[in-house]
Amino acid sequence: MRFICDSMLGDVARWLRLLGYDTLYSRNYEDWEILRIAQKDGRIILTRDVGLFRRARRKKLDAILVEHAPIEDILAEIAFRSGIDLEFSASRTRCPHCNVKLVSISKAEALSLVKPEVAVKYDKFWLCPRCRRVYWQGNHWKTISAVLEKANRKLLELRVRKGGSGRKPGGA
Ligand SMILES: [Zn+2]
Repeated sequence: MRFICDSMLGDVARWLRLLGYDTLYSRNYEDWEILRIAQKDGRIILTRDVGLFRRARRKKLDAILVEHAPIEDILAEIAFRSGIDLEFSASRTRCPHCNVKLVSISKAEALSLVKPEVAVKYDKFWLCPRCRRVYWQGNHWKTISAVLEKANRKLLELRVRKGGSGRKPGGA
């Protein structure tokens, strides 16, 4: 399952990458580029723009109209419609900035890349091969877990309320 986000959905793109889903995003995409890339790659279009959503549907492309809502509601809606799961997995997570899969690095390697106070406190580190940012499950991790927990509860509610495992993207 791969996605392409319109220029208003940078936060959604970062979350999907964190969850391990290949998600394209650029602030400079024109609508026609999004449509062309989605068609070429078989990506689901995520957009806040009703016009773009309708154009995508007319071209028989999968698209999800993303409303203004808290991120947990948005993730639940995307999961309901696309069938992705909202579980974090260290083995598939991607750099939120680059969309590149992170590689696990040893504590010894991390020692030279992060501040000493971080290196002593944590044992697991990941590196983005493109931007060279190093990631670890620090304080922000609690926030991430809390959002995913809420999103999964909302997803369950959606399944109970609307039935089944969801509709096809854009099939509203
Ligand atoms: Zn990166």
